[in-house]
Amino acid sequence: MPTILGTGTRTARRSVGSAAVPCPQCGSSTTHALESRRMWITLLYVGLVPLRYTYFTTCSKCRTMAIVEKDQVDKLKKLAA
Ligand SMILES: [Zn+2]
Repeated sequence: MPTILGTGTRTARRSVGSAAVPCPQCGSSTTHALESRRMWITLLYVGLVPLRYTYFTTCSKCRTMAIVEKDQVDKLKKLAA
């Protein structure tokens, strides 16, 4: 596949909150950081086309990351509020 010079992808990370839920890895009920990542197609390092969002939770105790759906993030944020 030919590539166009100066194009690439970039991922932007953003914290979207936190929630205290049981960790599937270590089993402790600790605070999990909620984070979104959005991938962009870039031209000369400038984000032009947004591709997709991915949501993660990270356990504050064992640092295990898990991919979650957007509606799960919304539910966890409501529980934390
Ligand atoms: Zn854990």
